[in-house]
Amino acid sequence: MGEEIRYKQVILSNYAKTSVKESDLSLRTSKIHLKIPCGCDGAVLVKNLYLSIDPFILALMKNQELDLPSFTLDSVSLVLPIYGFGVSKVLDSSHPNFKTGELVWGFTSWEEYSLIKDPDQLFKIQDKDLPLSYFIGILGMPGMTAYVGFFKFCSPKKGETVYVSAASGAVGQLVGQFAKIAGCYVVGSAGNKEKVDLLKNKFRFDEAFNYKEEQDYNAALKRYFPDGIDIYFDNVGGKMLEAVLNSMRLNGRVALCGMISQYNSLEQPEGVHNLINALVKRVRMEGFFTSDHYHLYPKFLEIVVPLIKEEKITYVEDIAEGIESAPGALFGLYSGRNVGKLLVVVARE
Ligand code: NAP
Repeated sequence: MGEEIRYKQVILSNYAKTSVKESDLSLRTSKIHLKIPCGCDGAVLVKNLYLSIDPFILALMKNQELDLPSFTLDSVSLVLPIYGFGVSKVLDSSHPNFKTGELVWGFTSWEEYSLIKDPDQLFKIQDKDLPLSYFIGILGMPGMTAYVGFFKFCSPKKGETVYVSAASGAVGQLVGQFAKIAGCYVVGSAGNKEKVDLLKNKFRFDEAFNYKEEQDYNAALKRYFPDGIDIYFDNVGGKMLEAVLNSMRLNGRVALCGMISQYNSLEQPEGVHNLINALVKRVRMEGFFTSDHYHLYPKFLEIVVPLIKEEKITYVEDIAEGIESAPGALFGLYSGRNVGKLLVVVARE
């Protein structure tokens, strides 16, 4: 059976229908044999190295419809750890496609070791020249989100004007850089001065502003887009989306990527009251889930890996140490404490 060891997990210990908080998550110690148990054909046992801290986790804590099973009290998930994206090392495998020692990224759980019974959605990490953590960031789900969301759903053309909200985060920083590569004028907003400086100086946005210092979003957008916005990459929803609709140009596109301003209050979502703009200006607004587009992953890698290696795009990570830091890190996303892609190092390889 292999040696039995004690290991840490993060579980949902309190399920709240309204707003959720850090203390609804807790740390638990369990025991595991570092061998695939009998009867688990097709499984892999992994050591988790990096865990991705993503906004959708909070929505799942509240049983919201996201195409993924939520962590509710009435399901067995209560006793299972939170799940999410991670980079892991295969310790044992009874699956023909995975071998001991291989590195993978994909869905795993917030724990030091995981038995993954359905590893078909794991991706093998082939390129060892880049930091492993990139596979839950620029080379993983957030990178794919920026790529698919911008190039497929925004259909950019050279010279167009692009606005990105939550622009310094995991997805936003890449959308802005893709927009510059596509020859667009790009403006981003973020929640403090450090992030605004990063947008202008490191990610080469044309302009950036601190939305928390703006009394009137309509006036701010007029200042940066006197002739209007062709493309809005929406990461936040709510009042900002409403203001952007007032500034959209004829035949504009809005990619509905995320609505982080609404996730902790979805029982009483803010309304968008001016949709008539979308009609009059023939704006195409489209929501998307990256999970529907993983068939594009090999093409995405072909494009993005050289851009990273030639230093044509850059990526900023915000790294927390130890699995104990995961609950605090998650809730830091909602106050904007993270600067760049937020992740937790569970173990070094
Ligand atoms: P992130 O930007 O790295 O982190 C979230 C950021 O959102 C925070 O740092 C904070 O930055 C900002 N924020 C938090 N509360 C806010 C509020 N009330 N109003 C405005 N901004 C707020 O996160 P990410 O991983 O890149 O995700 C960005 C968005 O994309 C999220 O909405 C996420 O759900 C979505 N997403 C969608 C898909 C998909 O398949 N459609 C996939 C991945 C992510 P500030 O300091 O700037 O406020």
